Amino acid sequence: MDDECDYLFKAVLIGDSGVGKSNLLSRFSRREFRLDSKPTIGVEFAYRNVRVRDKLVKAQIWDTAGQERFRAITSSYYRGALGAMLVYDITRRSTFESLTKWLEELRHFGDPDMVIALVGNKSDLSEAREVAEEEGRGLAELEGICFMETSALKNTNVEEAFLEMITQIHRVTSQKSL
Ligand code: GDP
Repeated sequence: MDDECDYLFKAVLIGDSGVGKSNLLSRFSRREFRLDSKPTIGVEFAYRNVRVRDKLVKAQIWDTAGQERFRAITSSYYRGALGAMLVYDITRRSTFESLTKWLEELRHFGDPDMVIALVGNKSDLSEAREVAEEEGRGLAELEGICFMETSALKNTNVEEAFLEMITQIHRVTSQKSL
């Protein structure tokens, strides 16, 4: 960890293949959109320093790097993660229907206090929408997790979604250490 950082957080990205996880991560960590992403095997992660109130937090965000295609995500992927960004594609209903399975997996492997942020990505493709925004919001309310629609392509709400998750992680961990 950098000397100037107060905390290091690990958070994971999960969701079906092709929903836009790696592009969300490259937006957040490098502020660029990767047009042709070639998923490689093996976990990838990126760091970014974020200021939360008076603290400097180093967020370490893990990406499945295509492993979700082979159901090869194991408990080590979730180990030590304080947050999870659960992503679906608003233009592919099946990716929304898979959320139940991903939530079960998160609750099985993840820390009980893990902060979960539900993200409906590809909001720029509204003409191809198969999942209404209200459905995403409704599920998030039911599960007690936060929700946002994003577009990695247009860079809409990406920063906001990551920062919301990181701020909540900070809140949970600082309450724990009181
Ligand atoms: P992953 O498998 O979940 O990591 O998904 P990728 O990040 O590799 O993205 C899958 C495909 O969706 C790629 O062709 C991306 O260019 C595209 N994509 C990702 N995010 C967006 C978005 O917000 N809008 C649109 N239109 N396409 C996107």
